[in-house]
Amino acid sequence: MTAVPYHLNLVGGEWVDGERRPNTGAARPDEVVSEYARAGRETARAAIEAARGAQPDWARQPVGYRMELLDRVGSAILDRVEELAVLLAREEGKLLGEARGEVTRAGQTFQYYAHQLLQPSGEVYPSTRDRVHAEVRRRPLGVIGIITPWNYPMAIPAWKVAPALAYGNTVVLKPAELVPASAGELARIITAAGLPPGVFNLVMGAGGEVGDELLTSTGVDGISFTGSTGTGAQVAHQCLTHGNKRFQLEMGGKNPLVVLDDAELAVAVRCALDGSFFSSGQRCTASSRLIVQAGIHDRFVAALAEATDALRVGDPLDPTSQLGPVVSPGQLAQNLDYVRVGLAEGARVVAGGAHRPDEGQFMRPTLFAGARNDMRLAREEIFGPVACVIRVDDLDEAIDVANDTPYGLSAGIVTGSLSAAERFKRDARAGIVSVNLPTAGTELHLPFGGTGASNHGPREQGGYARDFYSVPVTCYTGW
Ligand code: ADP
Repeated sequence: MTAVPYHLNLVGGEWVDGERRPNTGAARPDEVVSEYARAGRETARAAIEAARGAQPDWARQPVGYRMELLDRVGSAILDRVEELAVLLAREEGKLLGEARGEVTRAGQTFQYYAHQLLQPSGEVYPSTRDRVHAEVRRRPLGVIGIITPWNYPMAIPAWKVAPALAYGNTVVLKPAELVPASAGELARIITAAGLPPGVFNLVMGAGGEVGDELLTSTGVDGISFTGSTGTGAQVAHQCLTHGNKRFQLEMGGKNPLVVLDDAELAVAVRCALDGSFFSSGQRCTASSRLIVQAGIHDRFVAALAEATDALRVGDPLDPTSQLGPVVSPGQLAQNLDYVRVGLAEGARVVAGGAHRPDEGQFMRPTLFAGARNDMRLAREEIFGPVACVIRVDDLDEAIDVANDTPYGLSAGIVTGSLSAAERFKRDARAGIVSVNLPTAGTELHLPFGGTGASNHGPREQGGYARDFYSVPVTCYTGW
């Protein structure tokens, strides 16, 4: 076997060993992409201590210093887009083109927060009292535990780590165990950029151990988490009962895409195809419920089924592939279970559906028609290339069905009507609303987050990230 990179934990500027484990690729589970040092609670404790020790100095440095270092991290990521994209494609299974986009986004995010530091910080208010100056300043939160999922192994750590560091916090990152190499490369880049020891720490290990240590430690001031809604509830409980830590949760979605009779068919099909199936449906913003008005329903289903069946599922490194593998055997089994559930509930497969063992992780995108919104198929997040069509009569019903979900991350509508679009923007209960665009495209300088079971706490990304990573301090000065 040719040697593969071995990724270690980073604690207080030192590379720390753990239990040596193989990290297998998504496309071929027998391919070892790298190895990693799996850590336990003790390493997590040491990382928290290192982050605590480093935080006051880091926060007191002039803004120009932090700005320069974050900008350097961003540039180093952008210098290595191609190499890191190949790693992402091999490790997580996303298409090389998507992986390039993700790595670029990660680099740009570090640069964005470097420059955000030059934005106005705090506010001055008039005081109701004579000779009193009233202002609101911002103080860093302190030590941040960052717990990330596997679906965006570079972009999600970047959009949490960059603002955390920018606003004067120090960090312990715990990535998902399926993607240690992406996090390991990020740690190498951050170290090479010259951040002081302890400012950024990486601990790779199990959620219930390393993650739980972050949640329960008195040395951690805040937790930023992205993952499933079930785990998010545990994160919330642990944070509340262990020092009332501040926490921010980004969780699941069951995002609706409404298609009205006046929609341009080609636009509707493009939005659904991208939103439902690209990235193998492994996006919390994926549109898994297609809510379609009766007049366009049959044409839409026929055209989307044809386009879905025509998608080329293949090796993520092959430029002709349009869909890669699903991330793991466990995820594949879950997706196929939901296909069985959908059939048992009475929905009809109109594209994909079947899976042969020799297809391995390469699941064909599956479209159901004839679904109802009370089916499990339409209520539970699947996180795979599976979507269902629900027929409705009019906009009122479409909005009712769109909002009839515990989640509320992203919602979309395809329509030629300005007033329908405005109505939808007003009435859709979601943190992100798209008109004539897929539900799954976001930009780094705009807030990202949802409502209901999709989110808890302040928004991520853009200038809004500051609300989580800093604490307002109200200051009165008499003179
Ligand atoms: P996914 O299905 O995306 O893996 P999870 O919510 O299970 O979603 O995992 C998201 C992240 O949360 C991962 O880094 C995982 O290791 C971590 N995690 C899982 N369980 C816990 C837990 N009990 N406490 C803290 N972190 C956890």
